[in-house]
Parts: sequence; structure tokens; C-alpha cells
Amino acid sequence: MIYVRYSGQRYCFKHLEDFILRRVKKEIRNTKYFPRRGGKVAVGVSGGKDSLSLLYILNEIIEDWRSIEIEAITVDEGIEGYRPTSIALARKVCRELGIEHHIVSIKDLVGMNLDDIVALENSRGHGMYAPCTYCGVFRRHLLNKKAREIRADVLAVGHVLDDMAQSVLINFLRGDIVRMFRLAPHRHINPGMVPRIVPLRLIPQQEIYIYAIYKGIPIHEDECPYVEQAQRNLPLEMITMAEDKIPGTRHAIIRAYEQIIKIGTEGFRHCSVDVVQCKICGNPTSNTKGLCKVCMLIHRIGDLKEH
Ligand code: SF4
Ligand code: ZN
Repeated sequence: MIYVRYSGQRYCFKHLEDFILRRVKKEIRNTKYFPRRGGKVAVGVSGGKDSLSLLYILNEIIEDWRSIEIEAITVDEGIEGYRPTSIALARKVCRELGIEHHIVSIKDLVGMNLDDIVALENSRGHGMYAPCTYCGVFRRHLLNKKAREIRADVLAVGHVLDDMAQSVLINFLRGDIVRMFRLAPHRHINPGMVPRIVPLRLIPQQEIYIYAIYKGIPIHEDECPYVEQAQRNLPLEMITMAEDKIPGTRHAIIRAYEQIIKIGTEGFRHCSVDVVQCKICGNPTSNTKGLCKVCMLIHRIGDLKEH
């Protein structure tokens, strides 16, 4: 039996699975751009338990909707001792489920893997940009690029409730409410962007962990060597502490976020930043100077190499 603190309910494994599937189906039904008939769903799969569970869950749900295809995309950031294991797991699970698997790499985009970029940044750039900045910007870009190439209608990512609550809190801590309106699931399509959806966004991390064990999904316990430098650490600690004292805090953060989105949608239309095309790569960017974050970072790496 599993005791769920925030709802005070108890479930056996089978009921927990049903409960998860029901919530994911509901989330999908409410997601604006999920293909209803035909079409393709790209799934970002890091090889961690959340994204592999997402793949299992979507595969199970979509099995009944035969006209929808799923393809998986994995980004190889180039993190020695960490990424190769999870890529191998992603490959294994995709093979088991009969899902086409695409692997794209930061090295193909920039000519260097993340480890080398971090070494360069630390030696010549005074560590001004954290590893997660490069990793996050390049990963989002590569996932979107591949999803566009395979003509996916949506790009599903495996963020769970804890990740979503962290993202909302990070924007609060930065004082950036406008950015909150850009969090997935996307409500508008920007040119060149495949809308991102987050089917597990209301499922807590522990439930996905139990689901993964129950389904025999391989779990990769290693942590990224750069995790200590992640900006998410403080919000993560705050949420873990708050949830421990007040069960349901993570759900409350998401409810507050949804109210802000609802109330602010009209106002946001007036204060939203225009999206322009990047002068170098042509991808959409909200940077008024017309240089997207990917090109800005690639330019920085070039500068650092020359010094
Ligand atoms: Fe990338 Fe940072 Fe996550 Fe490591 S912790 S995989 S560097 S975003
Ligand atoms: Zn660009």
C-alpha cells in the first residue's frame, strides 16, 4: 500500500497506476495542441525515470489511439560518466516499445561537448555562465529542431509536479512573471516552435518513482556532475521543506500559477514581447536585438576559444 500524504489516500500499485493514467489522460485532453486523430508526438527522453515513465505511459494511452505515432528524441550533451548510461537505457526502452529513437548532440551543434564547453568557460570565461545555462539552452533548441524535422505536432517532456513547482518558484524568485506565461504547456504556437506539452505536470516525483519500479522501468540513479551548480537547487530545497511541513504545497503552487495565467492572459497580450527571427540562425527569439540565446552562447564559446 502507498500512502499519499497530500490527499490522505492509500493505493495499491495497480490503483496508483490507474490513478496516474487517468490524470495523464485528463491532462492530454486539456492540452490544446495534442493531436486528436493522426499526427505525431515527439517525446524528449533523457533516459531518467521521469522521461522513460512518460514514454511508457504515452505508449500505453496511445496504443488505443492507433492513428497517433510516437517518436523519441534524446539529447547527448556530452557529459562523461553520466550521459552514456542514460542514453543506453533510453535506447533499450525505445527498442522494447518499438519506438523510433533519434539521438542528437550538442557536439554536432557547437563542435564541442558540454564537458569541454564547461572547461573552457571555467578557464577563460571565469565561470560566468553555469553548465546548466549552456545545457538547458542547447537542449531545448536541439529537441525543438529535431521535433520540427520529424514533423511532430507536439513535443512532450517528462517534467513532473516537483519540476513544475520549481519552475514557477524560480520565476517568482527572479521577479519574472512574464516568463511564467511561456512555461509549457504552451497555449500559443510561435513560428518555428513545436508546442511543448507536459503530461506528467501534476504527478509528484515519488509517484513516478513507484510507477517506474512497479513497471520494471530501468532506473538510472547517478546524478549529473554539474547538478551542484544548478539554479534549481534553492527552489528545490524550499519546496521539499514546505511540502514536508504542509503536504500539498506543490499542488498549491501550481494552482496559484494557473490563477495567475488565467487572470493575466489578457494583460499579458499587452505586455508580451514580440518574437522576432534571429539574425544568424533564423529561429524565433524574444531578444529585441535579434540574436537568439543559442547563437549568443555559440558566439561566446568562439570568443573564449580565441583568447
Ligand atoms: Fe544539464 Fe545542469 Fe541538468 Fe546537468 S544538471 S544535465 S548540466 S541541466
Ligand atoms: Zn540564433
